Amino acid sequence: MGRNKAVCCGLSALETTLAVLFVLMTAVSVTLIVLLVTRESDTAGETDPPAPTSDPQHSPYLIGVGRADCTGPPAEIPLMGYAQSSQLAAGIHTRLYSRAFIVDDGRKRVVFVTADVGMISQRLRLEVLRALRVKYGDLYRQDNVALSGTHTHCGLGGFFQYTLFMLSSKGYIPESVQPLVDGIVKSIDIAHRNMRPGRIYRKRGDLGGSSLNRSPHSYMNNPEEERHRYETNTDNQVVVLKFTDLDGDGIGMLSWFAVHAVSMNYTNRMVSSDNMGHASYLMEQDKNPGELPGQGGFVAGFSSSNLGDVTPNIKGPFCINTMKPCDYLNSSCPVGGTKMCQAFGPGNDMFESTRIIGHNIYMKAKELYAEADEEVTGSIQSAHQWVNMTDVKIQLNDTHVVSTCKPALGHSFAAGTTDGGGDLNFTQGATDGDPFWNGIRDALVGPPSNETQDCHHPKPILFSTGEINWPLPWHPQIIDVQIITVGSVAIVAVPGEFTTMSGRRLRAAVKQELESDGVNRDWEVVLAGLSNVYTHYITTFEEYQVQRYEGASTIFGPHTLSAYLQKYAGLARAIAQDEVSKLPPGPEPPFFEKNLFNLLSAATLDRKPDNTSFGDVLQQVYPVYRPGDVVSVTFVAGNPRHSGDIRDKTFVTVEIFDNRTETWEIVHTDASWETRFHWLKGSNRQSNATVEWHIPATAQAGSYRIQHFGHCKQLKGLQTVITPYSGSSDTFTVTPSFYHL
Ligand code: ZN
Repeated sequence: MGRNKAVCCGLSALETTLAVLFVLMTAVSVTLIVLLVTRESDTAGETDPPAPTSDPQHSPYLIGVGRADCTGPPAEIPLMGYAQSSQLAAGIHTRLYSRAFIVDDGRKRVVFVTADVGMISQRLRLEVLRALRVKYGDLYRQDNVALSGTHTHCGLGGFFQYTLFMLSSKGYIPESVQPLVDGIVKSIDIAHRNMRPGRIYRKRGDLGGSSLNRSPHSYMNNPEEERHRYETNTDNQVVVLKFTDLDGDGIGMLSWFAVHAVSMNYTNRMVSSDNMGHASYLMEQDKNPGELPGQGGFVAGFSSSNLGDVTPNIKGPFCINTMKPCDYLNSSCPVGGTKMCQAFGPGNDMFESTRIIGHNIYMKAKELYAEADEEVTGSIQSAHQWVNMTDVKIQLNDTHVVSTCKPALGHSFAAGTTDGGGDLNFTQGATDGDPFWNGIRDALVGPPSNETQDCHHPKPILFSTGEINWPLPWHPQIIDVQIITVGSVAIVAVPGEFTTMSGRRLRAAVKQELESDGVNRDWEVVLAGLSNVYTHYITTFEEYQVQRYEGASTIFGPHTLSAYLQKYAGLARAIAQDEVSKLPPGPEPPFFEKNLFNLLSAATLDRKPDNTSFGDVLQQVYPVYRPGDVVSVTFVAGNPRHSGDIRDKTFVTVEIFDNRTETWEIVHTDASWETRFHWLKGSNRQSNATVEWHIPATAQAGSYRIQHFGHCKQLKGLQTVITPYSGSSDTFTVTPSFYHL
């Protein structure tokens, strides 16, 4: 694998240049653009919800929890996050799930979804809301449904309608969008059908040793007096909601912790839910004993929060060529620049790091879940507005009014972060711009207007995305602000990545407004990150001045946070004064029907080596293994994209032979942490599937086999035919370690 690194959540520098070149090329050759027709939504009806109870103040809530697979075809589609054009999906590390929580107080109902996805895009949200409307009418709406992404960087891309994001993920890809929409809606369906009387308890605690601030220089630019109010430069708090039925039996858990889901790095090609997904996996395996991953009634959601400047790579950054510290301000190295400055840890490789961080978060949440005894009571509210973020006026004092700006990205955006740096000579902390790149930009997409340049000062603008509208706007302008409250818990759904201090300011502003009603309530305010629409980062005004990656990616300018403080305070005030219905809805965001483009070519026909069949074993297992060993077997395979909707299925089983019943029992699937399904596309359209089983210490001794399931597409006469196939390894034995000396 080459040394070309990637940018978190955007475009690498090389890719931006290529992207712009591409746009110009497509302008000449418009036939490349595939216009897409909007899908018809599923019209299947749903059963009515149970009748709500009548006394909200003293009755339990109605609670529903649901989990659904939202994994898309793990092949050839770009993974969303590092914007690395060569990081195309090629298998499954762990499956991706959407987890939904519905609470009803008898009068009002709210839905919170946390999904294993890079972020919720505006397009994804609008498609989910349309599907919900078809099924449920007015029950689930933009104001009472909040959707949040865990920010895994190893989910599929292709679910955006704005040009910049489409360029970074081969366009708008229906193959990728459909399983996300269907998975999210299905998780809500399951929660809806499960609704029953229950109680909610809350608990907050601290988790150290699992996160690190990756832009401390920016953080230090915040006022000293403000910084001194906090012990750490990341938020270590974990907030847990425990859901039980009326017997006190746990039915679900929802938690928030601020850390980037980037333990898996840009070299990984397998779909993976990363550290946050692993925490869910561990908690659900614990609470659903005997169930395979993704099965069982207990649902554990680990939601993202104000993770903008927070990395899980806690060994911190250093120059990988000299092993010396990187430059503090610019995160670059004397030789090799930003791409040599990388952060790692705490494990020896990305799998171990993912496991350790996921396990830490899980253990803390489990502890808080066990201790949670503060019951959440009181009414439910939801407040939502659409806001045109390009022109929000903020009254700073009696005489000084400032404004947000049309979206634009700064030069440091292309430098990336220490979780994955840029390709070219961009560095973080740039406030001067670079004449060379300015020249290229001006030639390709045109310079930013003076107005936009002034508005974003001191950001040197790389792309004035708010001023480029071809073939569709490059960035969203209308965004969602939303707060849902359950008793004394407020979930603030934010449209991007708030930095640590931005999040603290927003929580404080919301809390202050909520408590302004004079009723003495101890509000717990949490931020749900990457919610509803993606707008990159939100730094404080002071952090913005430093123009590291996060500041350069604060797309609505230096006063972005101030505008959000004003807007969310308005929602909180409406909730406190019980005047949510008086909030104007704001301008509805667009749902583009035309000019979406899809650059992912159709999956080609599958070929196989002579004298073999699909599913045949090319590389066989050994006869005997011990716990700790890795079993590996390679099959003749088809392209996983030919398997269509792969939700709730598996490409892999690890099976043990039960001597008593004389049957094979499945012990692992491709959703299991212990299995890795690698799809390897070879030449001549031939491809292989290599399945690894990392045998855990807990594995039972016995006879095992590994099976692979797939589909192949072949020409039969003049027709293409897709056929299912399967293959099995030889039987092998796992013996307890102590048999071997
Ligand atoms: Zn990010």
